[in-house]
Amino acid sequence: MSHVLSPRSLELAQTLVRMNTVSANSNLELIDFARDHLAGLGVRSRLTYNADKTKANLFATLGAGKKAGVIVSGHTDTVPWDGQDWSVDPLSAIVQDWPADDADAESARVEPRLYGRGAADMKSFIAIALANAERFIESDSPFAVHFAFSYDEEVGCFGVRELIADMKDQGIKPLACIIGEPTLMIPAIAHKGVYRYKCCVRGKEAHSSLTPQSVNAIEMAARVVGKLRDMAEGFERDERRYEGFDVPFSTASVGQFHGGIADNVVPRDAEFRYEFRNLPTADAARMQKEVADYASRTEVAMKKVAPDAGFSFETICEIPSFLSSADEPVTRLAQRLAKESRTTLVAFGTEAGLFKNAGIPTVVCGPGSITQAHQPDEYVTLEQLARCEQFLQGLAAAKEIR
Ligand SMILES: [Zn+2]
Repeated sequence: MSHVLSPRSLELAQTLVRMNTVSANSNLELIDFARDHLAGLGVRSRLTYNADKTKANLFATLGAGKKAGVIVSGHTDTVPWDGQDWSVDPLSAIVQDWPADDADAESARVEPRLYGRGAADMKSFIAIALANAERFIESDSPFAVHFAFSYDEEVGCFGVRELIADMKDQGIKPLACIIGEPTLMIPAIAHKGVYRYKCCVRGKEAHSSLTPQSVNAIEMAARVVGKLRDMAEGFERDERRYEGFDVPFSTASVGQFHGGIADNVVPRDAEFRYEFRNLPTADAARMQKEVADYASRTEVAMKKVAPDAGFSFETICEIPSFLSSADEPVTRLAQRLAKESRTTLVAFGTEAGLFKNAGIPTVVCGPGSITQAHQPDEYVTLEQLARCEQFLQGLAAAKEIR
């Protein structure tokens, strides 16, 4: 018989969805709620804050005195919904019945869904972990479980870096990490990296009839943009394929370009933003170095006209790729708990690479689908939430990590 979601988990998921924790806002309402909930069960939380103390990560160990065990990890922030066409209030956390995908006219089977921003990505996972906290505390497993709830994941995985650093400072060495991003409860063992940069180009202004005395910032920017395009074509042509990804090679893309003030003025300034999405087998740092080296060579001629002309680069975000394997004990544990024999690769970035690079074997496995995340009318089915609850209750009872 399949597991039925506990009313408490659903209620907590609704409570968290109703909190507006868009990345631009504070997440302290949610963090304080989680901290108080855990404090009520006698569990102390460690909070690590951003510089102006408007956002925090929460780290808590359930099962004090036991050996360090598995981290249950989620981000508390969500993407915004400005300009999206929602048929329900994104903060309503309303549960509605919907004809199931496999329903035909006779059966007319309906599936209840929880709607709201963060329902799938990924407050429900955090809520179910919190709702089942007692099980983790009272479990007779020899391992503790750690809750790690971060801020600012959606804008570049910034918060979790503090959490991981603090964990290291405390000498806590968890054995594994499960990140509950929406994978339809299929353990995911790889994703690409996401590396974003801004390039500012300084040229020299002049009347457009006097171009030899000027440095055209747009034209110089375009050369680097062309270089990025060449690199993208090179990845597509030459890179060894990594099957399983929607696009089985690394990509590069320019997302924004601004410059110029008038038709008859050689532009002094231009600015563009671009990204690499590298395969786990490709080196994103080397890609960015290739761009910077190309810019330095281009700069030589620019500086002959105007010594302060040139390029400057700013990092927007660097989310490392993630690569694990089906043989990793934490992958097998997730498969066992999810009653799932498959593994998958995901197209989106997560905090998994950061945990893995900190020496913690990691798997991504959570309820709902990424196709609903970030979309209008984001939802997760209660069936997925029930499977997630069964998964986490299984984790609470797990005596071994394999
Ligand atoms: Zn997410």
